[in-house]
Amino acid sequence: MDKYKVLKEYFGYDGFRDGQEELIDGILDGRDVLGIMPTGAGKSICYQVPALLLPGITVVISPLISLMKDQVRALNEAGVHAAYINSSLSEAQIEKAMYLAGQGRYKIIYVAPERLLSGLFQDFLSRVTISMVTVDEAHCISQWGQDFRPSYLNIVHMIAGMRKRPVVSAFTATATEEVKNDILCVLGLQNPKVLVTGFDRENLYFEVRRSARKDQEILQYVKEHGRESGIIYCATRKNVEAVCTVLQEEGVPAVRYHAGLSPEERRRNQDLFIFDECPVMVATNAFGMGIDKSNVRYVLHYNMPQSMENYYQEAGRAGRDGERAECVLFYSPQDVRINQFLLEEKEFREEMTGEEIEAVRERDAQRLKRMTFYGTTRDCLRGYILRYFGEKTKRRCENCSNCLYEYLEEDVTEICQKVIQGIQEARRGYGAGTIAGALHGSKSEKIRGYGLDRIPSYGRLSEVPEYRLKEIIGELVLRGILRSTDDKYAILSLTEDAEQVLSGNAAVVMKFSKPAGKKAAEPKKKKPASGDLDAAGWQLFERLRELRMQIARQEKVPPYIVFTDKTLVDMCVKKPRSRAQMLDVSGVGAAKYEKYGERFLDCIKEA
Ligand code: ADP
Repeated sequence: MDKYKVLKEYFGYDGFRDGQEELIDGILDGRDVLGIMPTGAGKSICYQVPALLLPGITVVISPLISLMKDQVRALNEAGVHAAYINSSLSEAQIEKAMYLAGQGRYKIIYVAPERLLSGLFQDFLSRVTISMVTVDEAHCISQWGQDFRPSYLNIVHMIAGMRKRPVVSAFTATATEEVKNDILCVLGLQNPKVLVTGFDRENLYFEVRRSARKDQEILQYVKEHGRESGIIYCATRKNVEAVCTVLQEEGVPAVRYHAGLSPEERRRNQDLFIFDECPVMVATNAFGMGIDKSNVRYVLHYNMPQSMENYYQEAGRAGRDGERAECVLFYSPQDVRINQFLLEEKEFREEMTGEEIEAVRERDAQRLKRMTFYGTTRDCLRGYILRYFGEKTKRRCENCSNCLYEYLEEDVTEICQKVIQGIQEARRGYGAGTIAGALHGSKSEKIRGYGLDRIPSYGRLSEVPEYRLKEIIGELVLRGILRSTDDKYAILSLTEDAEQVLSGNAAVVMKFSKPAGKKAAEPKKKKPASGDLDAAGWQLFERLRELRMQIARQEKVPPYIVFTDKTLVDMCVKKPRSRAQMLDVSGVGAAKYEKYGERFLDCIKEA
C-alpha cells in the first residue's frame, strides 16, 4: 500500500491537506519531523498514515487521557489496531494491553508521558521494534510555554535508552519561536524537517461584541443555534455557574465544566457534550484540551482570555470538521481587570528565581495587552490574529465582524502623498508607528529623540488619528506602494509605485469600518456553509444525523466518530446509491463502509 491508498482505505479521504504530505514523506524517508499546524489542520493523519506504512510499532505520547481515548476509538473504527495506556486503566488492564502490544497486536500505541519510564513499558520497548515515536502536543516540553509538563522530559530519556533510535515526529499548534526552538533542542530532533503551515482557519468566522448585556445576548445566540453544538468559555468558576444557570432556567440543555466539580461530574458532563446528548458546554479553560469533537459549531467567550494564544486555541475548537463555525468574543473592559487579578494570583514553581518570575509576569502582561487590542481593534480580526502569529495577511478577510459590518470607502490619496513625503523627509528608515506618530504630531519622547519633530511633515496630518495612519501605511505595504523589512523592526521604504501616487497618477481608495457610535452593528452578510444544501438537503442531513445518533448510542461512541458532520453533508450532496459511490464520499473508508455503509445507503434511498 502507498500513502494515498492508506488515506483512502482507512480514513476515507481523497487527498492530503496542506503540509500533510510533506511531513509524511519526511517520516517515510526516515527523517525526524516537526509539524506546527493550527488546531483542526489534521495533525493526526501526519503520523497515523506513516505509522501504518512503517514496519514496526508507533508509540504516540499524548498528555491527555480523553484525547487518547478518542483517537484510539476513532482508529479502531477505521480498522486500525490501536490501544492506549494511561492512568484511566487498572494495573491489570495495563498489563493485558502491554502483553497484547508485545505480541504485535497493535500498530499504534498511545501512552501518557508518566508511564514511559515504568518497568513494564521499558520491558515492552526492549522486546519489540519501534519504528516511530510521535510527540503530540509537543509544546508541553517547553519551559517557555504555558503548558509545560515535566513528565514530557521522560521522552528524552526513553529515546536515549532505546537500542535503535526510531524516527521522532513532533506536532503542536503553538507557533512561537521560543517554543519551536525548545522543542527542537530538548527533544534532540536530528536534521528534522520542520513545517509550519498557515494559521488561517478559513471556515471560522470571527466576531467581537462589545456589549453590556452579555447574558441576554448569549442566551439569544444559543437559542438561535438550536441543537448545534457550542462551547461558552468563562474566566471563572463563578461565571460558569451563573451563565449555565441562566441558560438552564431558560430551558437550554447546557452542562458545566470547571476544576471545582467532582471528577465524576466533570466526566459525565463532558460525555453528555461529546456524545451530542447535550449541545451546550459552559466551561472554564480547564475544558477542551484534548477534546477532539469535530462538530462544534460555535465557541463563545463570555470573558476575554489572557492571551491570543489561549484565545485562538479555544476558539479553534470550533469547526474542526472544516464546516463553517463561529467564534464570538464578548468583550468588556472589566475582563481586563479580571485577568490582571487572575495573573496576580498565578502560582509559580518553587525552583523559579525572582528574576524568572518577573520575566514571566512581564510577558503575561504583554500578552494580555495584545489580547485586549484584539477586543478593541477595528481592523480585520483574522488579520490581527494571523499577524500576531507572524503571518502576513490581506487587510480585510471579509469574513469577520469588522470586515462585514458596514464600512465607508474613502479616497485617501492626499493622505498617502503626505505619508510618502514624510518617509522621504525622515531620511533614515523607521517603522509604521514612528512615521504615523511624526505625521500626526505626537509629542512622545521617541519622536523627539529621533528628531522627527523637526521635519516639515511633522504634525501635517494632525487631523488623522494615529491608528488610522497605521492602517493606511499597512495597506500601502500590502499594495506594494511601500516596502517593509521582514524583521521585527519592519522598517519602511518607498517603492517605484510610490512615485505614481506622489505625482497624482494613481489614486488610493480604501475601505474603513464605520466609526463606533454610529449605528452600524449588523453584519451585512455571512458566508454560507460550504455544503450549501437546499431545504431537502437539510432534511436528509437531519435524517442521517438521527441514524448516526442511533448507531453512536448502540456502539457507545461519540456520533462524530461514526461520521463527521462534513461527511454527512457530503452524503447529502452526492446522494450515493451504491457501495462504490458511498466510498467516494469524503470520510468513508473501507472499514467504516463495512460497518455502517449500507444503513446509510438505505436511509438515503428512503428519502
Ligand atoms: P488537529 O490534531 O491538527 O487539531 P485533527 O487531526 O483532529 O486536527 O483533524 C481535524 C479533522 O480534519 C478531523 O476530522 C480529520 O479527520 C480531518 N482531516 C484530516 N486530514 C484530512 C484530509 N486529508 N482530508 C479530509 N479531512 C481530513
